[in-house]
Amino acid sequence: NPELYSGNCLERNYNSQSDTPFKIAQLYEQWLQSQKIARGLREKSNVIQTQLSHADTFSGLETGSHDLGEEEIERLSEEARKIKRELAPIGEREKHLLEEMQRLAAELPNLTSDEKPRGGELKIIGFINEPLNQPPSSSRDHVHIGTELDLLEFKKAATTSGWGWYFLKNEATLLEDALVGYAKKVAMEHGFTFVTPPSMVYSHIASACGFRPRDQSRQVYNIQQVEENQGYDNPSLSLAGTAEIPFAGMEANQILDAADLPVKVVGSSRCYRAEAGARGQAGRGLYRVHEFTKVEMFAWTAPGAEMDVFNSILLVQKTILQRLGLRCRILEMPSHDLGASAYRKQDIEAYFPSRRGRNDGWGEVTSASICTDYQTRRLNTRVKNLAGSEKKTDFPSTVNGTAVAVPRVLAALLENGWDEKGFVNVPEVLWPWMHGVQTIRKK
Ligand code: AMP
Repeated sequence: NPELYSGNCLERNYNSQSDTPFKIAQLYEQWLQSQKIARGLREKSNVIQTQLSHADTFSGLETGSHDLGEEEIERLSEEARKIKRELAPIGEREKHLLEEMQRLAAELPNLTSDEKPRGGELKIIGFINEPLNQPPSSSRDHVHIGTELDLLEFKKAATTSGWGWYFLKNEATLLEDALVGYAKKVAMEHGFTFVTPPSMVYSHIASACGFRPRDQSRQVYNIQQVEENQGYDNPSLSLAGTAEIPFAGMEANQILDAADLPVKVVGSSRCYRAEAGARGQAGRGLYRVHEFTKVEMFAWTAPGAEMDVFNSILLVQKTILQRLGLRCRILEMPSHDLGASAYRKQDIEAYFPSRRGRNDGWGEVTSASICTDYQTRRLNTRVKNLAGSEKKTDFPSTVNGTAVAVPRVLAALLENGWDEKGFVNVPEVLWPWMHGVQTIRKK
């Protein structure tokens, strides 16, 4: 259905890919044509082989009807060799056509839910901790607060690693542990089981999940392997920008049982983002960094049952942000803002007093996406025993979402919890991990 996929590319602002579905359809026609020619040649070859085998069987016997003359055998053998020569490049061509179709299809974004606002306009669908009873008394940013209370160190990190890196110090490290611990606790209460994933993934696994290390070289850190590890047997590696990639990859080439779905996992990982060209005032301090801790939720569901898991992911996100006391708004993201794999996406933005002049202070803190079968098709994850399906196996859907991305939430907690008397209040839900610290004061 090239029209559907081409229109979908335009709707998602993948304009340069809008011709791709038609190119795939053309290649498919050529492939069918090629198959037809090859089938004709193979049939012809089968007839000749039968004639020749009869000639072999009966040669020397006085049977008459099968007695091919030597000249005829030579002619048929030459004909068989000719067909073989003609078939070889056709086979090569078919292989090439299939590879090209797959390469082009892999570049296409997922289809888009009807619930999505089309184009670039996002839709506000709800608020958390609204209305704000007391507007924040200060618009101090987290870099000032964090430096004054000896929690954050950027200048020295610039010496060790460059801009966009940071040291967390003192209570900020406790806050990081507390946010991870609390997010995992809430996710566990909603049926997610714990998995800690690797930070490094094969580049083709990242590609299959909709993150294309080669095309997105400005976003993904690729690993240069030491010499003895290079070669055809060792595919290239990237640092994962999100645990979504290793989680999705965990079930690559596996068959899940429908009775076990949904499978819901949650885990903490370090995320690596090159963020080339993205620095500037808008990404100041902890807002946009190259490495950070994130607790991520990921699930496999039966096709059509995605909304249950999507809602449970959103509930975890809302519960965490609500109990942290952050003022937030919930957005249905428009088609222009979806990553390649997302069929539907909702983001939550928190209010940052220091960002009042930008987007009215709102900054993204979580994201949740339904990816339907986009990732499982590319990773060959299947499900068996699906009720109502006549197929032996089918592709399950995947759904993912942030439980907590530490640096932005930490920044929002510092800015919203800051008291001009010179301290920051720690939300009560984090106290169990704070070793007795309930307010952070100047040392
Ligand atoms: P994403 O996986 O891109 O949807 O991001 C999930 C969450 O991670 C976002 O909502 C942000 O809170 C956070 N995040 C993404 N990129 C960065 C970054 N470069 N620095 C800090 N936090 C980030």
